[in-house]
Amino acid sequence: MNKTHVTVLEIDSKAIIHNYHYFKSKIKPTTKFMGVVKAFAYGNEAVAIAKILEKEGVDYLAVAFIDEGIALREAGINKPILVLHPQTETLHHLLTYQLEPNLYSFRILNQFIEVIKTAKLNNYPIHVKFNTGLNRLGFKPTDVDEVISILKNNSELHLTSIFSHLVASEDLNERAFTQNQIDSFKKLSDQISKELNINPIRHLSNTSGVINYPDAHFDMVRVGIGLYGFGNDTEETSKLKLVGTLKSRISQIHTINPGESVGYNRGFISSETIKSATIPIGHADGIHRNLGNKVGYVTINNQKAYFLGNVCMDMIMVDVTNIQCEEGDEVFIFKNQENVEDLASRSNTISYEMITGISQRIPRKLIN
Ligand SMILES: *Cc1c(COP(=O)(O)O)cnc(C)c1O
Repeated sequence: MNKTHVTVLEIDSKAIIHNYHYFKSKIKPTTKFMGVVKAFAYGNEAVAIAKILEKEGVDYLAVAFIDEGIALREAGINKPILVLHPQTETLHHLLTYQLEPNLYSFRILNQFIEVIKTAKLNNYPIHVKFNTGLNRLGFKPTDVDEVISILKNNSELHLTSIFSHLVASEDLNERAFTQNQIDSFKKLSDQISKELNINPIRHLSNTSGVINYPDAHFDMVRVGIGLYGFGNDTEETSKLKLVGTLKSRISQIHTINPGESVGYNRGFISSETIKSATIPIGHADGIHRNLGNKVGYVTINNQKAYFLGNVCMDMIMVDVTNIQCEEGDEVFIFKNQENVEDLASRSNTISYEMITGISQRIPRKLIN
């Protein structure tokens, strides 16, 4: 789709392989690796990335919603796929596509049991999530006895894994809170293993959990943002490679005379003679409007060109007065992690939102 658009997100397959092996080197050889490819692999292109991870030997993949899992299956991905946040209305689709649900409440657990009974299946792989502090999804630790009793009485389900999610794994000021989560998870998972006499995969750590809490790796880790090139500090990030490079080309260059303005609502009025370049990417593509008026920048010929006036839906105008450039020249919106993190912080957000927000109308192009 969209092979004619000059703005493109280049996906570097060597970078994803590098990052995968970097995190593999941080865990024990026996610890499993779940690659988190939700939200189009954080905006990077889920199918291409899942294929690369599958080839590299990833143990599990995770998506947020059922549709995302279906897209991977339809593209021929065979690895087990955990759906982190299935919705009760559409649970039967999981069976058609061999997707494994996270069952996080009595409501969804009981509904899934009905779905499995109706389909006359047995031993279907499921994952159970406990809420150890995030208060987002999951059973309460005090629900554990009832969960155990339901699982004992329903052999239609096979408890493949039990997991929880850390609240502040990147924040070492919250060490005590995190340790509490780790202890609580350990206790819960021990009780379940003992009373059901099984050994489900236990997993707790996201990217910064892997980096900061070796004690919390358990049997599997769930790595998302790290795969795409971002650690939890500059030092870790410097060991990773950026997967998605966002680039475009200059559509047109204008000379702006003193007193003339640039963009909607005359957002920028020039006091001198300057040169502006128009780039075909805008707020509909994930370029936040609060980057307008010299807050954000792109890179042209290795120099920063700051935004002039307001960000439009499909375009931005940047100041190229002191940059040697011509119409058609290459423009980087970001080409390294520092660019992404800087633009994110200038938009008052974080790298996660910056990269997942790149619109789907921008084609993804696999390189390397
Ligand atoms: C998104 C997500 C992850 C991945 O987190 P990163 O910080 O991107 O590594 C792991 N586990 C769960 C439950 C998630 O929702």
